[in-house]
Amino acid sequence: MARPDARGYFGAYGGRFVPETLMPALAELETVYAAAMADTDFTGEFARLCRDYIGRPTPLYPARQLSAKIGGAAILLKREDLAHTGAHKINNALGQGLLARRMGKTRIIAETGAGQHGVAVATVCAMLGLECIIYMGSEDIRRQAPNVNRIKLMGAEVRPVESGSRTLKDAINEAIRDWVSNVGDTHYLLGSVVGPHPYPVIVRDFQAIIGREAREQVLEKYGRLPDYLVACVGGGSNSIGLFHPFYDDKDVKFIGVEAAGKGLDTPEHSATLVAGRAGVLHGTKSYLLEDESGQIRETHSIAPGLDYPGVGPEHSFYKDSGRATYTAVTDAQALEGFKLLCDTEGIIPALEPSHAIYHAAQLAKRLSEEKLIIVNLSGRGDKDLEIVTRALGMQP
Ligand SMILES: *Cc1c(COP(=O)(O)O)cnc(C)c1O
Repeated sequence: MARPDARGYFGAYGGRFVPETLMPALAELETVYAAAMADTDFTGEFARLCRDYIGRPTPLYPARQLSAKIGGAAILLKREDLAHTGAHKINNALGQGLLARRMGKTRIIAETGAGQHGVAVATVCAMLGLECIIYMGSEDIRRQAPNVNRIKLMGAEVRPVESGSRTLKDAINEAIRDWVSNVGDTHYLLGSVVGPHPYPVIVRDFQAIIGREAREQVLEKYGRLPDYLVACVGGGSNSIGLFHPFYDDKDVKFIGVEAAGKGLDTPEHSATLVAGRAGVLHGTKSYLLEDESGQIRETHSIAPGLDYPGVGPEHSFYKDSGRATYTAVTDAQALEGFKLLCDTEGIIPALEPSHAIYHAAQLAKRLSEEKLIIVNLSGRGDKDLEIVTRALGMQP
């Protein structure tokens, strides 16, 4: 297993780059988390709610019509799109919600970009009876109105952020600021495997249910491990969640697919691992995208969940050690992946995993029929219909 050292470093990446006032809260989180994971009451309740509330285990679906169309290796889809609220983000929101309750915190804050994490957090807070405040850039509020309404319907407050580019990274800055002033009664429910230690480990462990289930399911159905795991990488949580339980299975290759946006030769992409370099952002040392003067760059992707200039430290470690390889897929190619899955399987994927679908289809073609590829279908595409119909020039 890949474990960080005592200071929270995966190789050269990770750590805690935060104001002094947050150090005790991070230490408390680390201690309570370790105790919770060793307590069968806690892990039992997480398992029960994963089953009864989220609807786990999600299926591992052999996409036979897709495979028949493209040829080559068999493609299996891990159906996180069928989890409650339509994406993998609920796994982590539930785990951290239970952790917040255990710590006696009554107020939850979170950031959201496209609104998927905000929806997952508001959902869990409604169910657990916790106060919930979601920071969201005002530009994202404008672009993602349906998710804003879902968050409000579940009783959470949406706080618009007007600073910077008024998008995700500004919302994270604001959430950190709130946490510094209210750390006594507040838990910051971070949405991906980013941020200061121990967040990258906590989020990974709650998302690792994806990979544990997939490993069991593929062994049961095929009697063997897959050859490739393919997942999209924004902050990196759905991909690490799939990869991590296969870490010691050295013959299983990991491929992370980032957003090449309008092309890696333009500034409009979010391919942090493919095209970035190491630095510090939002409390952790990892690959990131910055301009010549060291300013964090504005990023772009057609998939709102991939539009982030940082990535989790464990991925940076996997990249340097060669355990995983990373590639990038453009907006136009992701749309092809999206259409391909709609047409062949009657499944409307989110735009984020459409990047992984496109890459997996290209990979499958070059492989023989007995090879197995598992693709993490991290979410469903209902949230993206407006973007897609506009991009494909369909009538509204
Ligand atoms: C948020 C999101 C992502 C990207 O986040 P990761 O932390 O990289 O998983 C991918 N897919 C969907 C459906 C999302 O909502």
